[in-house]
Amino acid sequence: MVRSFSQLLIRGMEAQATDEQREFVRFIETGTQRMEHLIRDLLAYSRTVHTVSEKPLDEVSLEEALDHALSMFDARLREACATSTRDPLPSVHGNMTQLSHVFQNLLSNALKYCSTDKPIQIHIGATKQDGDWVVSVRDNGIGFRPEYAERIFGLFKRLHREDEYPGTGLGLAICRRIVERYGGRMWAQGEPGVGSTFFFSLPTLAQ
Ligand code: ADP
Repeated sequence: MVRSFSQLLIRGMEAQATDEQREFVRFIETGTQRMEHLIRDLLAYSRTVHTVSEKPLDEVSLEEALDHALSMFDARLREACATSTRDPLPSVHGNMTQLSHVFQNLLSNALKYCSTDKPIQIHIGATKQDGDWVVSVRDNGIGFRPEYAERIFGLFKRLHREDEYPGTGLGLAICRRIVERYGGRMWAQGEPGVGSTFFFSLPTLAQ
């Protein structure tokens, strides 16, 4: 509503509107758009935090969860000439939609925080460690300083300005909550100019 009325206002002023006034309307538009994204992500976060599943957990194939996530990014991966490689992934207990959401978020970030001077390479790995599966999503993008590895999982925590890389700073917080719901942990490693790797662990299925 704020957006539409500010546009109507500027249209009503037609030729009399100064460049400065048009710029103010643009600020209102980008501000409301940002607010819309924040509310959407905040709702997604609160749903993950507060919904408690009564059903027993499903057995979810992470292969399928990743296939689904990759299919959502197919066009963007092609457009960016990105290559992705993967290890065979296990099945775990959880919810397909939410675990695919974790992959979608990590892939989206790998595409967003990419280096401009080299083609994007993404590797999805899986290893077994102390009774858990550890899944990793590694990119060769801009990376981050190791001291920020924990901070980026905080609510609204971002390392970049909105005009450099758009975002709300909620994606990783949501991913961590999802993984924790299914008994896992999530963490990250980064090196500026080299890339980032995001890890999440989940318990292996009982034999
Ligand atoms: P958003 O991308 O909306 O800012 P996220 O919670 O997904 O929110 O990420 C938080 C911050 O972590 C980002 O703003 C960025 O600074 C950093 N980050 C996330 N993924 C990557 C990545 N693949 N490479 C470098 N930095 C990243």
